[in-house]
Amino acid sequence: MSSSSSSSSSSSSSSSSSSLPPQTLKVGIVGFGTFGQFLAKTMIKQGHTTRATSRTDYSQLCHQLDVPFFRDVIPFLEADNDVILICTSILSLSEVLNSMPLRRLKRHTLFVDVLSVKEHPRNVLLQVLPENMDVLCTHPMFGPESGKNGWKDLPLVYEKVRVRDETRCSSFLHIFESEGCRMVEMSCEEHDKVAARSQFLSHSIGRILAEMGIESTSMNTKSFETLVKLKESTTNDSFDLFSGLFIHNRFAQQELMNLEQSFEKVKQRLLKKMSEQQSLSSV
Ligand code: NAP
Repeated sequence: MSSSSSSSSSSSSSSSSSSLPPQTLKVGIVGFGTFGQFLAKTMIKQGHTTRATSRTDYSQLCHQLDVPFFRDVIPFLEADNDVILICTSILSLSEVLNSMPLRRLKRHTLFVDVLSVKEHPRNVLLQVLPENMDVLCTHPMFGPESGKNGWKDLPLVYEKVRVRDETRCSSFLHIFESEGCRMVEMSCEEHDKVAARSQFLSHSIGRILAEMGIESTSMNTKSFETLVKLKESTTNDSFDLFSGLFIHNRFAQQELMNLEQSFEKVKQRLLKKMSEQQSLSSV
């Protein structure tokens, strides 16, 4: 598959589809942890070819999945990949990419990341990749738990950061479209702004509830059940993921301060009301 020279950055376009039918892709996955494996299963089901490399040796698991596993990154890069899919942790992205001898890439390749923050991978990919590599930044807004019964109506946020081969990019996005995902084209900056106020906030509250040790009771209200579920779902993700949401999203720190200030405001209102009630009852 050769790169077309017809278009450059297309982050403002509203459609992810190309006029050509989707292609079967050879996808090399970097980082075969929980999320990399989760995505691989759907790609395999759809008939795409996958291969993987990771810090940990996943040879046995990959053997069961019929996915070639490369302990050595050089043959991985020299393999015939249409797409290299980055599924490493947010915190390790720079280290992983900087340790890869990217000059060994034999052909123009589409690099896609799935990190839960977006400006950081966009910046790192643009910095380390040769100019002739295409870049698509994505964030599937679901995981192995929320997506275990299918991906229908679950959002896939993406920005075509540097896409010249539209057909290959559309074929990749089609993996999500064909599972029924809601395709949301959005700049990396906008994603991070919105995610700091939604995803990071919910993870922070889930972690706070875990610190408090909340557990299901015999008299749960629906709202309390929601809190228990939130605690469970956020603590199922690694602490690396949670801290990555904070460290590599420039909007997250402000949201943490907002949370702290709002907590203090609510507390002060309660204390004020209590003191008013106490003075009334002492009259
Ligand atoms: P994670 O803890 O964020 O990342 C685990 C992956 O990072 C593993 O493949 C691990 O490799 C690799 N890794 C960690 N530290 C490393 C290091 N120092 N050097 C090299 N590799 C390192 O957990 P995850 O849930 O699998 O998430 C992977 C990515 O997907 C993250 O960027 C996350 O933001 C994104 N994502 C996750 C979800 C989700 O629901 N889990 C949803 C959307 C997006 P080894 O396994 O080889 O140790």
